Amino acid sequence: MAKAERIKNTLQETRERRKTQKAVVYQLKLQNLSRRKEKLLKKAFLEAKWLYNWLVSNIKRLDMPINKISAVEVKVGEVFEERTLATLGSQIKQEIGDRLKDNLRALGKLKENGRKVGILKPKRFVNSIPLKQYGITYNLDFARNKVKIQKLGNFRILGLHQIPSEAEIANAVLVRKPSGYYLHVTCCLPKDSHTSLNPVSKDIGIDFGVGSKLTLSNGIRIDFEIHETPRLKQLQKKMARTQKGSRNRERARFLLRKEYEKLNNRRRDAQNKVLAFLRLYERVAFQDDCVKGWAALFGRQVHSSGIGGLKSRLRTSLETPIIVKRFEPTTQECFACRKLHKLSLSDKVIECSCGWKCDRDANAALVILRKGLGLSHEQAVGLDRPELKPPEREAAARILGSNPCICVSFPQ
Ligand SMILES: [Zn+2]
Repeated sequence: MAKAERIKNTLQETRERRKTQKAVVYQLKLQNLSRRKEKLLKKAFLEAKWLYNWLVSNIKRLDMPINKISAVEVKVGEVFEERTLATLGSQIKQEIGDRLKDNLRALGKLKENGRKVGILKPKRFVNSIPLKQYGITYNLDFARNKVKIQKLGNFRILGLHQIPSEAEIANAVLVRKPSGYYLHVTCCLPKDSHTSLNPVSKDIGIDFGVGSKLTLSNGIRIDFEIHETPRLKQLQKKMARTQKGSRNRERARFLLRKEYEKLNNRRRDAQNKVLAFLRLYERVAFQDDCVKGWAALFGRQVHSSGIGGLKSRLRTSLETPIIVKRFEPTTQECFACRKLHKLSLSDKVIECSCGWKCDRDANAALVILRKGLGLSHEQAVGLDRPELKPPEREAAARILGSNPCICVSFPQ
């Protein structure tokens, strides 16, 4: 009884504390793996798959004490064979079960809301293992750059220096990627830890476009496109030529996944640079428009740019994102007098009878900024056109220029 009470109290405390914190995920790489350790990790992911599939194939099994399960049946061809779970720790097994329960609950919710849902199917791969309890399922040793994982032992780890000392370490996930094994550690940081940066300028509006990807209200254009590599196409062809179920196919699939991972990292890096630049502003306004609709219009071009990803990250990673509603007209409106203009796709400049003449995208970014801040057009014109300041120019060149996939251009 006392124990249940204690757990309840600590949960309550944690919940209170979380309100003043934000979650940040750090990626750490497992390094210098000996052949033995690599084998061990491979085995752990295999066992995680066995356990998951065994539970999925009969979800009544979730009511058993999952942490005590020591052997499961695995379907080999047409028969079932028994396999022992030797490398998974008891807590880890429990967490795999809990995760499955969470998934089922989420599916149940969707079904309640009238969505059509399928059933959970067995997986071909399990590429992540939850490590929920810091101090029990895993432990970080900052002095020796190591992580200790329940039952798997110690591993050297790269990237621990990223975690600030005031961070409160929460759960982690052990992840397998084609390039190696990683630990994704979630930490809780105090919410105000970012504002210590002094902003270069106060506010900025962004117009997302297809041609030049981002236009800022100060006139900077940021274009980033991560092209599919020739190697990717080559590998796709190669894989298509292999026979189903053959070793060559496995190999080709692995190389292909590795190439995709590389491409993703590049996209992610470009997004990071843009986000880092936008974080220099106090308030960032953008419009919630529908990237999905564009993808239908322009196809791959949008898909490969990672612009949708950038938007969702803007929403979650900025301190105060200001989102302008989707159906507000922004491209057709004159920033100076709010008159609506009919512009065709080929019109690059908006020219208004009030004397306002501006690049079409920059005008849209300005309108978005004004609407986001809730200013009337008289107030906004009082601000006059926000000019690009030298520190902004310098910061843009330094941060965005460090990535070869990003092309920045400044207003003349
Ligand atoms: Zn006008």
